[in-house]
Amino acid sequence: MNNIVEFVQDTYKTKEFIPLHEPRFTGNEKKYLNECIDSTFVSSVGKFVDEFEKKIADFTGAKYAIATTNGTSALHISLLLADVQKDDEVITQPLTFIATCNAISYCNAKPVFVDVDLDTLGLSPSSLEKFLDENCEIKESRCINKTTGKTIKACVPMHTFGHPCRIDEIKDICEKWHIVLVEDAAESLGSYYKGRHTGTFAKLAAISFNGNKIITSGGGGCIITDDEELAKKAKHITTTAKVPHRWEYTHDMIGYNYRLPNLNAALLVAQLEQLELFLQNKRELAKEYEEFFTNIADITFIKEPQQSRSNYWLHAVLLKDRADRDEFLKFTNDNGVMTRPIWTLMNRLEMFKECQCTDLTNSIYLEDRVVNIPSSVRI
Ligand SMILES: *Cc1c(COP(=O)(O)O)cnc(C)c1O
Repeated sequence: MNNIVEFVQDTYKTKEFIPLHEPRFTGNEKKYLNECIDSTFVSSVGKFVDEFEKKIADFTGAKYAIATTNGTSALHISLLLADVQKDDEVITQPLTFIATCNAISYCNAKPVFVDVDLDTLGLSPSSLEKFLDENCEIKESRCINKTTGKTIKACVPMHTFGHPCRIDEIKDICEKWHIVLVEDAAESLGSYYKGRHTGTFAKLAAISFNGNKIITSGGGGCIITDDEELAKKAKHITTTAKVPHRWEYTHDMIGYNYRLPNLNAALLVAQLEQLELFLQNKRELAKEYEEFFTNIADITFIKEPQQSRSNYWLHAVLLKDRADRDEFLKFTNDNGVMTRPIWTLMNRLEMFKECQCTDLTNSIYLEDRVVNIPSSVRI
């Protein structure tokens, strides 16, 4: 395993500690932040928020983008706009970051866990279809879970580490079953499936700009959608549902203070200018990792799935078994190379223990074996 540590040190040209993912501020970050401070518009209004929303819509090909305080709040509002209500159910994958399930919980709904595909690490259309065929029926245009009697309102697949899942097949199944599709595209800015940007398949999608994501605003997120009505509602509900007026303060529903500050948007506009470079850089590193691991027994580099172009946000390898995984984690972390196992499955967590699950063979297989390796953009 020594050669792995050496390879990573060579690739990052350092013998110092190598983190999993660090942000890079090599562009106009300071310039725009200074502009923002000089303007005094650092908070809830300002030109950088508008500029960012326009640019992210252009980049992804979505008609509208609404900036939010983080990816979790973007998911929360997307689910509310998908009409997820108290006691509804939302299908998702157990192999995801906690934020997906937290957002479902904020709507007082419950997740139902469907297995993932081994090649995409994302929600499996065949597992989804099997679950629906065996457990659900359509009544008055609603998908009813016969086991619980509850309505399945939405389905939230996630593009794990930036690798797109089979989103077109999932979309077809959801349409057939009257389930609203919401994409958790938090990790997949710059990832495409069959030539189309992830997050643009669903009615609504959430993207994250947290400090560890491919580009960052410190903390931040956005909702993307092609639906004008939903875009307007998203803006309204994330900005305290204030009725526009020059001086009156009136609000027409319970809203949220989820608006991204202009200061964060200024950072993000500068980061967006470098996104293509970051993507290129990450894909080059992926190629180097792939070649390197071809010659290492019992470790496989996880490549982008077929028919897709991944942003390779976090690079990952597959170990032989859990014991090998633990040995790999210990050795690399002991030797200054940060590595991290994939998330504990959501259905194992205390809060989601009682939630319904399909057969989770693939998720369990991956949980035991997948490890993230250093993935920062190299300068
Ligand atoms: C990062 C992330 C989120 C949430 O983003 P925050 O900006 O940290 O709130 C949601 N889902 C997934 C899968 C993520 O990786």
